[in-house]
Amino acid sequence: MTAIPALADLQARYAALQGRGLKLDMTRGKPSPEQLDLSEGLVTLPGNRDHRTETGEDARNYGGVQGLAEVRALFAAVLGAPPERIVVGNNSSLALMHDCIAYALLKGVPGSARPWSKEEEIRFLCPVPGYDRHFALCETYGIGMVPVPMTAEGPDMDVVEREARDPRVRGMWAVPQYSNPGGETYSDATVSRLARMETGAPDFRLFWDNAYALHHLTERRPVLRNILEACAEAGNPDRAIVFASTSKVTLAGAGLAMLASSEANVRWYLANAGKRSIGPDKLNQLRHIRFLRDQTGIDALMDGHRRLLAPKFRAVTETLARHLGGTGVARWSEPEGGYFVLLEVPEGCATRVVTLAAACGLALTPAGATHPYGRDPQDRLLRLAPSYPKLAEVEAAAEVVATCVLLAAEESREAGGSGRV
Ligand code: PMP
Repeated sequence: MTAIPALADLQARYAALQGRGLKLDMTRGKPSPEQLDLSEGLVTLPGNRDHRTETGEDARNYGGVQGLAEVRALFAAVLGAPPERIVVGNNSSLALMHDCIAYALLKGVPGSARPWSKEEEIRFLCPVPGYDRHFALCETYGIGMVPVPMTAEGPDMDVVEREARDPRVRGMWAVPQYSNPGGETYSDATVSRLARMETGAPDFRLFWDNAYALHHLTERRPVLRNILEACAEAGNPDRAIVFASTSKVTLAGAGLAMLASSEANVRWYLANAGKRSIGPDKLNQLRHIRFLRDQTGIDALMDGHRRLLAPKFRAVTETLARHLGGTGVARWSEPEGGYFVLLEVPEGCATRVVTLAAACGLALTPAGATHPYGRDPQDRLLRLAPSYPKLAEVEAAAEVVATCVLLAAEESREAGGSGRV
């Protein structure tokens, strides 16, 4: 065990940090300006009079609700589906997830007896810790949330299989690779069990949000088992809808969002989307094709992101290790991809750490954001997002976090808590 400085020393260290007048933000997984600069070339494409698609359509005009064939072909490997079972929309995969839920509520999905909103009660399984915007979507539409603990291999499948038999459970969230916020990648066994499991609702849908499919921080490239193939093999071809986007590949606010699923689900989605809009922004799709070109282009761009991001993640984990290693007051993830470090502090201390950090000029994601309804019953988990600030700022921010954790833990111990994770 490494000795923890005395409370008075920690308070002095904290006061010194407060005196530095920092103004840092680690709240959201936003790409930094330097990352956005990697795709600056996109902004001026496709260029004057270049507006014909591969099949000769005029990308400036209406139509093409499924998205350009060449973009669907380019992302077929990422989504794990052939181009005809892919839809390319506008800039936000969250919007596609929202729309799928809204259509399901209003009209049902293939296999529904009635619209989901006509069911007495509906629920989603929510791996926890998870992505706050998934939880917010459920909350805003009155979908109950059933928390499922995460393990290193993905959600605890014994719990998932038990809860999925409840006919009120209509869906489940999953961030299968470099999950937000814990960084876990689902094992093959987890993917197979999700594809195979019995569900109480015949129209159960797995919202497979593969937001971090390409976002490696190391040379290692985990290969996620193909969920669409696994579902088809298990006789549940309509179970999964896969989502992805280029928000953190090209431009976060002006990328391309996509979904892939079974033939029936894609037909269902297009029938509904075709009422909502006459077609997506195909010029942006063409712009992406001209800029990315092929898989090699995508890989090169992602290497550029990795070169900018990996040192920031290292700065966080090394600073935490330096200050907190061996103290027993915290545990943290060392993610191999994605956008977050998950920090576990002693029970009852997470909110206090956020308050202490704010008073030092560091904004952190609110404690509880990792849980449904924003409530972490043990007040224990914090999500750190190191992508946006500059490297030196990330180092300073991690030092603030470490000091605030030590201080909160010691305060808690003085007040009779364990002060240990
Ligand atoms: N899903 C996950 C798991 C995310 O972390 C994010 C971004 N923070 C999104 C979706 C949002 O994606 P998009 O920009 O495509 O709406």
